Amino acid sequence: MKDYYKILGVSRNASQEEIKKAYRRLAHKYHPDKGGDEKKFKEINEAYQVLSDKEKRAQYDRFGRVFEGGGGFGKASDGFDFNFDFSRWQKETPGFDFEFSDLGDVFEEFFGGGFSARKKDLRRGKDIQVDLEISLEDTLSDQKKEILLRKYIVCPRCHGSGGEPGTKIKECFSCRGTGQVQEIKRTFFGTVTRYIVCPECGGEGSRPEKPCNVCKGNGRIIGEEKISIVIPKGVDSNQVLKIKGKGDAGKKGGEPGDLYIRILVRKHPIFERKGDDLYVDIEIPFSLAVLGGEVEVPLLDGKKILLNIPSGTQSGKVFRISRKGIPHFGGIGRGNLYVKITIKVPRGLTKKQKELLEKLRKEGI
Ligand SMILES: [Zn+2]
Ligand SMILES: [Zn+2]
Repeated sequence: MKDYYKILGVSRNASQEEIKKAYRRLAHKYHPDKGGDEKKFKEINEAYQVLSDKEKRAQYDRFGRVFEGGGGFGKASDGFDFNFDFSRWQKETPGFDFEFSDLGDVFEEFFGGGFSARKKDLRRGKDIQVDLEISLEDTLSDQKKEILLRKYIVCPRCHGSGGEPGTKIKECFSCRGTGQVQEIKRTFFGTVTRYIVCPECGGEGSRPEKPCNVCKGNGRIIGEEKISIVIPKGVDSNQVLKIKGKGDAGKKGGEPGDLYIRILVRKHPIFERKGDDLYVDIEIPFSLAVLGGEVEVPLLDGKKILLNIPSGTQSGKVFRISRKGIPHFGGIGRGNLYVKITIKVPRGLTKKQKELLEKLRKEGI
């Protein structure tokens, strides 16, 4: 993983101002036009693209990576109950406007990312990332879940075209049908003249005479979509499932973004997971440890199993029960269950129990 802070030579809690300063200094130093190291320059730009963006920086700090497209983080509801907290989305709903920063443009100017690529990018919907919490029991088998997402959906009236049904499509006035316009831009590297995607028609070269009443010509609206997913058995926290095409709908019929679901497995009250093995603590009476016998051990699926305790078992002894752990992700077989024995010291004894123990004491036990 690349350390963007190290690349820019700033501390993890550097201010936006410090990041900007560091970037400018390094960009000048490594600029390829001045004989700088192109690879290094690219790296510096990449680091700056992330750290200068509040949202991307937060993602990077949290996950050590930035999801392409940089949509907002939300929380998916576990579909079986649909307890979806919409308020959470107010500030996290994916950005409403796609924006290339000035520096991003300059960066692309030097390193390709040609016109057609950008045209495609402009209309593509953003990727969406959500967290989905599941129980440890859920990891035992493939789980079908439904999640409800608030996001851009294809406009139901115009089906993404952006035009009122039946309206005529006419040539775009701004670009005269070419889909691109010339732009002159001053940057701190100098003046850059280039062609950009026509902002009026989004590169289409044509526009509907009458924009759609519902989406105002965008081809998409904010809405909700119920998405069915299958969470594979054996999944663990921080694994990310990618669901292609289920991110934000694209603008004007553009390609949709992807949906990334980060799995968070809830802590279990009695079982602890380490890799695909499970650990459980069991208390047994002193007499059972001394004389031996059987004890019931709970399993994660709710069943129970009898474990043989040999006589003379010491407190802290760990027994292994094969193949009663978590199934291996994407494979066959499963982990083991490890049972740690603790010997219960009895309290609140009856008179009879005390007498018996007194006898044992005399016997030296
Ligand atoms: Zn529409
Ligand atoms: Zn145009």
